[in-house]
Amino acid sequence: MKPDHLFTEICFEHYNVYVPFECRRCGKRCRTYTPRIAEDTLEEIAHYLGKPSYDVRFIYEERYKKRYRSDALPCPFFKGETNECGIYPLRPECCRLYPFSFGGGDTNCQAYRRHIRIVSAIKKQDQYRDTYDSSFCPNQRKKPIPGHKWPDILYQFMLMETSYLMILKFIRINTISTRGFGTPERYSYSTT
Ligand code: SF4
Repeated sequence: MKPDHLFTEICFEHYNVYVPFECRRCGKRCRTYTPRIAEDTLEEIAHYLGKPSYDVRFIYEERYKKRYRSDALPCPFFKGETNECGIYPLRPECCRLYPFSFGGGDTNCQAYRRHIRIVSAIKKQDQYRDTYDSSFCPNQRKKPIPGHKWPDILYQFMLMETSYLMILKFIRINTISTRGFGTPERYSYSTT
């Protein structure tokens, strides 16, 4: 089972910390970007939207051709009134992985900036060896956070104006085994 959210993995010498990314649905990226979508997916999208496939392909291709213009246009599937993706279940992988696709997120994205700040704060806890997005390829040899480190790490995380939901995600992701992401495996430290 894949994780239900994106996260950054920070590898310290004796343990790893996973920092989840929380999308705020600001839609900033979708307002200025049109992703590459495969031909057969466009067929599926037309079916999903209940529109003729010729119309969907034509609108998409016209927009895609203009994607590098200075006055960047929104993705043709973006619903600006509600800040939603109109093809959410069929959105391409680069959109599913954003902000960890394209080699980095958009600095106009508040959630991305906050994520970077949290990662930097946690890195200050100890000497780290590596930091990377491992959302689709988690480290199978996860080393759990030792009990004496956990209170400081959790405190640093909470200092970054994190939401209650994010705190729960952070605790959950760091207190289960990454092996399969499906089997909760509690360690001996307490989070209270
Ligand atoms: S496909 Fe959806 S998520 Fe991707 S850029 Fe378009 S509106 Fe945004």
